[in-house]
Amino acid sequence: MDINDALRFSVARISNELFSAGSIFSVYSLATTFLIAVCALAYQRKMRRGRVNLRVIARAIFNKRILLTKSSAADVKLFFLSVVLMPVVVGALVISTNAVAIVVSGALNGLVGARAPIACCDLSIKVFSTVVLFLAYEIGYWVDHYLKHRIPFLWEFHKVHHTAEVLTPVTNFRNHPIDNIFFGYMLATFIGAASGVLAWVFGRTTESFTVDGKNILFIFFLWTIGHLQHSQFWIPFRGVLGNIILSPAHHQIHHSTDPKHFNRNFGSVLAIWDWMFGSLEIPSTTNPRLKYGVVEEGADPHSVVGILATPIVRAAAALWRAPAEIGNAWMERMEQRRQESKSTSIS
Ligand SMILES: [Zn+2]
Ligand SMILES: [Zn+2]
Repeated sequence: MDINDALRFSVARISNELFSAGSIFSVYSLATTFLIAVCALAYQRKMRRGRVNLRVIARAIFNKRILLTKSSAADVKLFFLSVVLMPVVVGALVISTNAVAIVVSGALNGLVGARAPIACCDLSIKVFSTVVLFLAYEIGYWVDHYLKHRIPFLWEFHKVHHTAEVLTPVTNFRNHPIDNIFFGYMLATFIGAASGVLAWVFGRTTESFTVDGKNILFIFFLWTIGHLQHSQFWIPFRGVLGNIILSPAHHQIHHSTDPKHFNRNFGSVLAIWDWMFGSLEIPSTTNPRLKYGVVEEGADPHSVVGILATPIVRAAAALWRAPAEIGNAWMERMEQRRQESKSTSIS
């Protein structure tokens, strides 16, 4: 591939990303998000000040102090890198999802026996499968995200996303390529397993409602609140809704530099996994003016070296330290148990 082919390939990929209804960053999803942001800000200003000034709202949405920062520029560079490399990841993801589905349905056929294909209720099965595959995506996302915050080796790659000091919809692409690859295989495992179980239960290939191959429920949330999760607008869901759906403010808490917000709100759209596993933080009604980013010494987190090379070096160091850290934790646990049994025998 010469330079012209590479250029043509990159332009085709970027235009596909912008103009496919099922892509993460389509102009359609950005347009619906823009309308929702205008309505939400207009409503908040009407409630607070009794009047709405559209010029002030436009200035808030296209805020130069947010868009023209080093952090935003780094997000844009990662957008191009991610979109151009994406076919490789997506290709591997599709193959892996199908492979996992075949292994799971084959294992169930072998262990429990094959089930006769169900010849009725096509629409109900398709709706049910759409919901199950969406739930599989959501739990896969939560587990992947939880592991990336808990395992030092994975955190070094995921930290790139958290070094964003301002949040815009492009921040969604601020991920290290290795972070993206791990995410892809994690999703393939969960969605593939769910697809395999569905294929076995219904005795036929799993079908679901999709837009350009993406689950329609995922697209619905992307076109409504998805982009606003990476924005500066404090739009909180509270009460019952705040325990079910992660609002933009929920995810902004996840990016907060305040230690009391660390390891909170790991989910994508559904808050139920965070609620079930005790990591849910419901946002306040009023905007707490959070700060975003990661405070630490080292290379500029918005430079090419800081984004691409530093995480690899730090992840390798974390891997090197892992046996000693596991050994120390085990020794501490043993010592704690010894002390506990000693105090029990004295009493
Ligand atoms: Zn995170
Ligand atoms: Zn984020």
